Amino acid sequence: MKMMDMTASQAQVLTAPYAGEITAQQVLDISVSFGAGADAASFTDILRDVRQRGDGVVIVNMASDDKDAPVSAFLAQTQPEKLKAAFAAVLEASGASEAYLVKTKDIDLELDGAKSVVTDRSLVLREESALCHIIKTGELRSAPLEKEFISEGMDGRPTLIADAQTLVRVYAAAGDNYRETRLMMVRVPGAMQFAEFLTGTPLSKVIEECGQKAEKSILLGGLSGLFVDKGDLDSFKVDLSGKWDFVGVYGAKDCMASLTASLADRAREETCQKCVLCREGTWHFSNIFGQVAAGKAKKEDLAMVGDIGPLIHIGAFCSFGQQMAQLFVSSVETNRDELEAHFIRKKCPAGVCAAFSKPVIDPSKCTGCTDCLDVCDEDAITGKKKFIHMIDPDMCENCGKCAEACEEGAIVPQDGTIRVPKKLVRVGKF
Ligand code: SF4
Ligand code: SF4
Ligand code: SF4
Repeated sequence: MKMMDMTASQAQVLTAPYAGEITAQQVLDISVSFGAGADAASFTDILRDVRQRGDGVVIVNMASDDKDAPVSAFLAQTQPEKLKAAFAAVLEASGASEAYLVKTKDIDLELDGAKSVVTDRSLVLREESALCHIIKTGELRSAPLEKEFISEGMDGRPTLIADAQTLVRVYAAAGDNYRETRLMMVRVPGAMQFAEFLTGTPLSKVIEECGQKAEKSILLGGLSGLFVDKGDLDSFKVDLSGKWDFVGVYGAKDCMASLTASLADRAREETCQKCVLCREGTWHFSNIFGQVAAGKAKKEDLAMVGDIGPLIHIGAFCSFGQQMAQLFVSSVETNRDELEAHFIRKKCPAGVCAAFSKPVIDPSKCTGCTDCLDVCDEDAITGKKKFIHMIDPDMCENCGKCAEACEEGAIVPQDGTIRVPKKLVRVGKF
């Protein structure tokens, strides 16, 4: 994992070199927030509250990253001294008597004074009761109905939760020249790299600074984010919310149907299954978008996403289910033409989906045996003994029977490089 080359609009605040220890008093004197909009919370206010009430708990949460944007692992690898220094000062400033570091197997970091809990990376761990549950039982299960946790903290004790990025931000804010930035994973065609931008930078500028042009919708926030229409980029500005963990920029050769289908499969794997709307909703999304990518969906299926999405967004117990629903609704809204092309025109515009990659007969391998012609129910193959056979792509239903029948391995998906004859030609003469 590496950083993109920095340009004028980018910043090096969180990624600046380590500059020594910070003190508990410095941490108490600064003002650092996390989240944005209605979800914004003052880290510093919570810290002071934990200190005042006493017998608190500090949890460092490094396991709740999107799998495509392992920001915590990146910071643990590149900024271990800052994380240790910030944690030591935060722990002292909070006066907490207990601390935990929840992390994934790929993170080697240990924090003095914190008990390590190793688990798998999961967005569900952004939900506070799920985080608490995994510390106590090792089981990934959200318990959002236990409202007392939200209001009173773990075991009814004042609880401060910080992710890796917030800790590094605390470290930076305790030093000189602090400016608010967000570290994010930017995916562009053929590459994925971390980049750091000042808050307030418009999404259009982020894309431009990464040397890209928005050809399709932009995926903002990965599995817990949303697809942003390419005409709406200036409405989104970098902030401290989780939707800025990941920015996905896609080009002509990226298929938005197969991307959405793979996100839906991941959502189905990640749900903790505690509540019925998220459990059943992820099943439906996975099924619907799998059918879209296979060219077998119907228009009503996309309408169903629009119908159930808002219900899940309102009724799911935790932010994972709420945001995941929003993601799939936004894919239908912004990628509709490309999604529909798969099941209406039976075409993958990006040429990616295997279901639409029609077979061709490689003239250099065909022996003119007629075996393929005999098995094709669509009469899509033309040929006769000792002549190179040909497939009519407009008649072919891509059933795969001819490739199975061909002992020469001559029938393969067209990858754009295989030249085929336009009329019957004797074997060996093309
Ligand atoms: S919304 Fe999903 S992840 Fe959250 S509690 Fe319900 S089932 Fe679990
Ligand atoms: S089965 Fe294979 S070798 Fe035989 S005619 Fe068809 S493509 Fe050619
Ligand atoms: S894939 Fe099926 S429909 Fe297409 S040419 Fe082969 S046998 Fe015929």
